Amino acid sequence: ERRISATPRPASKKPTAGEAAGAGGRAVPILVPSAEGRLELDEAALRSVLLQDDVRHLPVVLVAVAGAFRKGKSFLLSLLLRYLERGGAADWTGAPDEPLTGFAWRSGRQRHTVGIHMWSRPTLVRLPSGEQVAVVLMDTQGAFDDRTAVAENATVFALSALMSSVQIYNVSRDIGTSDLQHLQLFSEFGSLTAAEGHGTAFQRLLFLVRDWQSPSEAPYGTVGGQKVLREVLDSPPGTHEELRQMRQHVRRCFSDIDCYLLPHPGKMVATSSEFTGCPRDIDDEFLLYVERLARLLFRPEHLLIKKSGDETLTAADLVTHFVTLYGVMAS
Ligand code: GDP
Ligand code: MG
Repeated sequence: ERRISATPRPASKKPTAGEAAGAGGRAVPILVPSAEGRLELDEAALRSVLLQDDVRHLPVVLVAVAGAFRKGKSFLLSLLLRYLERGGAADWTGAPDEPLTGFAWRSGRQRHTVGIHMWSRPTLVRLPSGEQVAVVLMDTQGAFDDRTAVAENATVFALSALMSSVQIYNVSRDIGTSDLQHLQLFSEFGSLTAAEGHGTAFQRLLFLVRDWQSPSEAPYGTVGGQKVLREVLDSPPGTHEELRQMRQHVRRCFSDIDCYLLPHPGKMVATSSEFTGCPRDIDDEFLLYVERLARLLFRPEHLLIKKSGDETLTAADLVTHFVTLYGVMAS
């Protein structure tokens, strides 16, 4: 039984790899840097995604990916989008030589842009209860590597975390102390708005570790992820006070924290300039674990609906929510 309604795909279009478009939609910039370097909300763009006739009244599931540049966020999100739009069918990855479209990935040689993109076409999914929900994917990017930019872009990450029901925090190889520091920084922004009574609790945080190197110590997927997470967030007696407080803060900010370990995707993905996203060039093991991750996120029984306090948000509510949060943060 197909529970996820896929967007019809025109048969003939031959896309180029890493293109910011796919048969079923395109990546819409929502939060964009202005010429003066301020982050501007494009409210019309936000409305164009969330106020579509068949979407606006539905409860919304928003999965966002955030983290440093060039760590495979957009590539992963494009794979997740493909899974979602193809209803998680057995052949969701497509033909071995089918390039991957979706969120623009591999933009390495261009200038890095900071901001938030949403996929223009939410996927409608029917829950086991019969209720329909709209699943929205969001790509978020900030400049973690630049010290001053870290503080500025805390806004981007706080907004992303506050808007999403699942915030994926993409990190490379391991969860380092600096990853936690960044997280603490932007979750402080979030706590501020919560303190102002805007009902903005974070929901689920999922650390996604890329290129995990030690599967013999902690296996790929959630089981190993739990193990790594325990080591990162636990503070055994003797832990430095500052570190202990930081860990506690991160724990307190989210109602739910998970971790998932992904294998290396293979040499073609990581290094080849010829790589266009064809499944034949991606390690099978990587695709297997992406599929398992997609199931964890998108199986109807696993979908996490966006809430503000105890209240379920519809796509239309989310527009108001976003505009309010943006107003608080930009001021
Ligand atoms: P983003 O800036 O985080 O959105 O990164 P992109 O998705 O644009 O990918 C940047 C580069 O990393 C591309 O050349 C991808 O082929 C490559 N890449 C994608 N996923 C992975 C991964 O899991 N590991 C490694 N090592 N490279 C990856
Ligand atoms: Mg990207």
